[in-house]
Amino acid sequence: MKIKIPFILLSIILFLNTVSQEDPYKKEREKMVRYQIENRGLSNKATLTAMRDVPRHLFVPKYLLGNAYDDRPLPIGHGQTISQPYIVAYMTAIIEPEPGDKILEIGTGSGYQAAVLAKITDSVYTIEIIKGLYETAKTRLSEIGYSNIQIKYADGYYGWEEHAPFDAIVVTAAAEHIPPPLINQLRDGGKMIIPVGSPFKVQSLMLVQKKDGKTTTSNLMHVRFVPFTRSK
Ligand code: SAH
Repeated sequence: MKIKIPFILLSIILFLNTVSQEDPYKKEREKMVRYQIENRGLSNKATLTAMRDVPRHLFVPKYLLGNAYDDRPLPIGHGQTISQPYIVAYMTAIIEPEPGDKILEIGTGSGYQAAVLAKITDSVYTIEIIKGLYETAKTRLSEIGYSNIQIKYADGYYGWEEHAPFDAIVVTAAAEHIPPPLINQLRDGGKMIIPVGSPFKVQSLMLVQKKDGKTTTSNLMHVRFVPFTRSK
């Protein structure tokens, strides 16, 4: 006897199967956003949507696939780390990115923070000082299809003059002081977020705002980032 499955049912089964195969990590990402980010009080819609969209598991080393959505930073090689999801979301939300904005990131690392920003804004410029990380991130970002991210191998202390001014600047390595070239390249009315303090000690996450030519800074919270290094 032949068992007949109605065509419509078959289509639904095939559709669900494709969806689940498309991104087996979707559920984990949803849990990450709910429990690690929303539960901590972050409510910026664009940030939450971006955190739900960007496949974080594609930004961590293969051996850490199972930990990609953990509530902590993870090693990405060369002594560097991909930041904890909440910190990425927090830094994104605080600069209030909008479509049309031009954003500069210093410290590409895995490329994850750049990808989150690129989901929200039109153009992201990111600079990485370690060649191996720069190369991996460049390949990864183009393979996933982030065509609105430009990446450069350089010392981010000097910013990216030819694309300045930027609507926002996100620095993801802890600097001993706020690099003056970055302040210069911030648009009037723009915001920069940067961890400031000694390497491997508790640092302050600072919000730098420029208004009518004046720069003000405020201390947001204590954080621990890898050091901002300088090219020789
Ligand atoms: N934003 C990254 C986190 C990377 S950790 C992510 O989402 O994965 C910080 C990164 O800053 C490291 O990759 C480190 O090599 C880089 N870095 C440190 N000093 C730098 C500098 N002067 N210019 C550019 N990148 C720098």
